[in-house]
Amino acid sequence: MAFTDKTRQLFAEEIAAIKEKGLFKEKRFICSPQGAAIRVEYPEGAAQEDVLNFCANNYLGLSSHPDVIAAAHEGLDSRGYGMSSVRFICGTQDIHRELQDKVSAFLGMEDTLLFPSCMDANGGVFEAILEPEDVIIADRLIHASLVDGIRLCAAEYDTFKHMNMKHLEKKLELHQDKRTRLIVTDGVFSMDGDLCPLDEMCALAEKYDAMVLVDESHASGFIGKTGRGTHEHFDVIDKVDLITTTFGKGLGGASGGCVSGKRELIELCRQKARPYLFSNSMAPPIVAASIKVIDLISASTERRDKLEANTKRFREGMEAAGLNIRPGETPIVPVMLYNAKLANDMSRDMYAEGIYVIGFFFPVVPAGQARIRVQLSAAHEDEHIDKCVAAFKKVGEKYGILGLDKKGIIDKYGM
Ligand SMILES: *Cc1c(COP(=O)(O)O)cnc(C)c1O
Repeated sequence: MAFTDKTRQLFAEEIAAIKEKGLFKEKRFICSPQGAAIRVEYPEGAAQEDVLNFCANNYLGLSSHPDVIAAAHEGLDSRGYGMSSVRFICGTQDIHRELQDKVSAFLGMEDTLLFPSCMDANGGVFEAILEPEDVIIADRLIHASLVDGIRLCAAEYDTFKHMNMKHLEKKLELHQDKRTRLIVTDGVFSMDGDLCPLDEMCALAEKYDAMVLVDESHASGFIGKTGRGTHEHFDVIDKVDLITTTFGKGLGGASGGCVSGKRELIELCRQKARPYLFSNSMAPPIVAASIKVIDLISASTERRDKLEANTKRFREGMEAAGLNIRPGETPIVPVMLYNAKLANDMSRDMYAEGIYVIGFFFPVVPAGQARIRVQLSAAHEDEHIDKCVAAFKKVGEKYGILGLDKKGIIDKYGM
């Protein structure tokens, strides 16, 4: 036995130290379908309670939508449970093709390739299309899965300061000698909820002959007038070359991802992307349900419109109540607290008020940037939102942070 009592003690002490600092992440179990109202066991072993969920990526409220569930059942009956194969061997059904075509039409792209997840799409796309004589120029706060994909590819890797178009321009000038330049960004950044200025970015891409790849995982289905994404919001649908996105957030919430974009680039992914070649296909029930999701949101903007109204109601309510939220227009609303223990303590008190939210602190966000990240959903009703705001007001009052700005909160609690 190599795991001796002494070894165990060593690791137990580290866990005890995390608890001591008030930074311990407790287990919470959801005992119902995902939705605005959920049934939760927390702490572990406690009686189940009904609470309101304000931290899911269930932006359009489709995770448990009856039409989506029915489509998944139908897919299960007509195409089976699983493919037992990667895409290129015998893992591609007619419904995989149908979903790809529908996603291309929805996003305004030439072609689309499905992957087991967006993490896999990001893991495969760069190596498939780029060579050592190319350069990737990425925003410094891109999602971890993009960073991992970039690491797997031989192209040179450079970065620009978060959403700083002047800095991007400098880097584009610097790399004019490369075979191709690929700018990489998130459309909506998941921790801060800010929107990448894609119009300016695409103008620079044109001026300096670069391609643009946008990860739209936190945008597809609800950003833009008809929910196509950040490229629609900034009116640059035909100027973006590649989009990666997930079916695991707004678009149904199960799993799966894709790369969508210029025909030749998608073809190279089909030939070379390793997760396409070496990881299993999206399961038929999920593909069938994802087709239903694209049909629903193509037919009506009702859900994204409701999400937009909910976001506005929540942001205005929180500002009026005196909480320090990051300004913006997306349904990701960080309640800034800076201090990790404060974020953890407040999220526990919010649960006691019937609101499920989670404190985010290092390493999930940079040190000193602790927060409670609230996410709105089209499944929320006005009374849910008002209850959440009232709970934040009550808990914020308890901690004496109402009306305080960044400096005020840090003076009181430290970073
Ligand atoms: C969630 C997320 C992913 C990963 O998506 P999965 O389909 O869950 O692998 C990729 N990129 C961004 C920006 C994300 O937020």
